[in-house]
Amino acid sequence: MGRINREVIEEVRASANIVDVVGSYVSLRKRGRNYLGLCPFHSEKEPSFTVSNEKQIFHCFGCGASGSVFDFVMRTRNLTFAEAVKELANRFGIPLPQEEETGQSKKIREMAQRLGQINDLAARYFSENLLNRSSGKVARDYLQTRGINEGTIEDFQLGYAPKSWDGLKRFLVKEKVDLRVAVQAGLLVPKSGGDSYDRFRNRLMFPIKDIRGRATGFGGRALDDSMPKYLNSPETLIFHKGRTLYGLATAREACRRNNETLVVEGYFDLLALYNKSIHQVVAPLGTALTLNHVRMLSRLAPQTVLVFDGDQAGMQAALRSLEFFLREKMAVRFLPLPEGMDPDDFINKEGKEPFMKLLSEAKPLMEVFLEQCLSNYDGSVEGRLRVVREVTPMLRLMDSPVAQEGYLRVLDQRLGVSEEVLRAELSLSSTGGPTAVTSQKKKKEAEPPEWEEGTIRILVNYPQWIPTLEEGSVLKSFQGKDWAEVGRLLMKYYQEGGKLDLSGLLMDVQNEQVRNLISSWSLETSPWREEVAHSRLREYIAGIRSSRRRLLDDLKRLKEEIQAAERSRDEKIMAELLAELQAKKAALLAGEVEDEANLSKGEMV
Ligand SMILES: [Zn+2]
Repeated sequence: MGRINREVIEEVRASANIVDVVGSYVSLRKRGRNYLGLCPFHSEKEPSFTVSNEKQIFHCFGCGASGSVFDFVMRTRNLTFAEAVKELANRFGIPLPQEEETGQSKKIREMAQRLGQINDLAARYFSENLLNRSSGKVARDYLQTRGINEGTIEDFQLGYAPKSWDGLKRFLVKEKVDLRVAVQAGLLVPKSGGDSYDRFRNRLMFPIKDIRGRATGFGGRALDDSMPKYLNSPETLIFHKGRTLYGLATAREACRRNNETLVVEGYFDLLALYNKSIHQVVAPLGTALTLNHVRMLSRLAPQTVLVFDGDQAGMQAALRSLEFFLREKMAVRFLPLPEGMDPDDFINKEGKEPFMKLLSEAKPLMEVFLEQCLSNYDGSVEGRLRVVREVTPMLRLMDSPVAQEGYLRVLDQRLGVSEEVLRAELSLSSTGGPTAVTSQKKKKEAEPPEWEEGTIRILVNYPQWIPTLEEGSVLKSFQGKDWAEVGRLLMKYYQEGGKLDLSGLLMDVQNEQVRNLISSWSLETSPWREEVAHSRLREYIAGIRSSRRRLLDDLKRLKEEIQAAERSRDEKIMAELLAELQAKKAALLAGEVEDEANLSKGEMV
């Protein structure tokens, strides 16, 4: 289902009382102002799962799970946000606009259906040609030279498009298909004057199927010198190269059983592995892996192994996808094939056992990336900075400090930049959230984030003081990006409603750790009394202001020290000073950023 507009979401949220919804899954007992039960997300004997009727949120003090009524339904039923909204809308009898405006969306759905049917029909025609017609001999011979067996040919419904301008067209006419739909499906190419001809001629045909096994498009390999060697269906209503993987339907079960999905680059790489009973394989359609592909992979199995060509291009293609895997918190490894070999060559020459051995030795892609960055390191200050700049954005995407630690140690050993400095670089210029708070606590000058955290904590409990954030640009002085973001959201929600809509706010907070902190604070059993809270708030705000002044002073001092280090050519100190300077600059900007999207874009460059 498509986008749901904000008003509908609000209506559903207003109708779906969180105590009722949670109460139908978890037995809840009233305790004080809240409800308490056993957490459905972790196993516990003493109830620590808290639901607030007043704030319309839940929070587990045992495992930290928290959020709005939508989060609860998404997690318990394993649904997407849109599906959770739809589910609750149905349950509480709220009509969704999509269901009322049948006109447009009904037309689209029917069109998609017709395109699917015509593709399935064409797949049958191509397959019949390959298996049972004399014209298909050229394709049968070719498959034989590539060592593809009958079972594989059948499972993938491989086919042959004969050397003819109207073979498929005549078949479709006989089947009483509307040729305009065949043109829309990309099977026929329109000519001027309303006529059309077959797009795929003298090609080995690979039907590309969705996860349910329905053909959405085709890939065709030329069996003569025609260009291009591989021709795909054009993008249609149901066929998008960036959102399709070859082999989804055949791989699905095997991926689940093996807890792992292999990704190869080409049709024949995939068929060669499948031939040897390695079924958990998919391939993108001649494009680089996209974030969408990685999301599809995450639904197949928790781990992915990239089995790309054994050359520099293969490795670069793998590394380009690292960011997407990190973003989706997906484990990904890289299988290095010998130079000049692709998976098809390897498994046919060496056999299955050597392949399985290589597979078991595949290294985490992050490790391969780090080695790649370090291999260009020439020992200079600039080189060291370059490596740090290349690696930190990726490390930042790993949310586990334990996982980061190993890589930080390698950098420490190989570059001579201490883990401390690297950690500061990591936490300061990125989140400024809880990770920054904990890693900074060791240091003396840890106050600013704690003051910011404290301020937010009080405002969550005493929303009437939220306007304080605007006075004398308090918010602009924030140095932690996450706290600044929450501060902006607090102001937005307070201004819109004149009170704090906490479950709405939680839906907008991106960082999960921050979200969990906020919901736990809002449900604290003994928040400070009003007078105490008010005097604390004033202390924190004074602290935030003075720390900004100190930050500005520090920046000035740092610049002078860098100039001095430059004069004395002390490279190690200079690298550390430059890292510190970068971190401070990022802290200075945290509270002033109006547009989050621009900031994250800036970081990626
Ligand atoms: Zn829990």
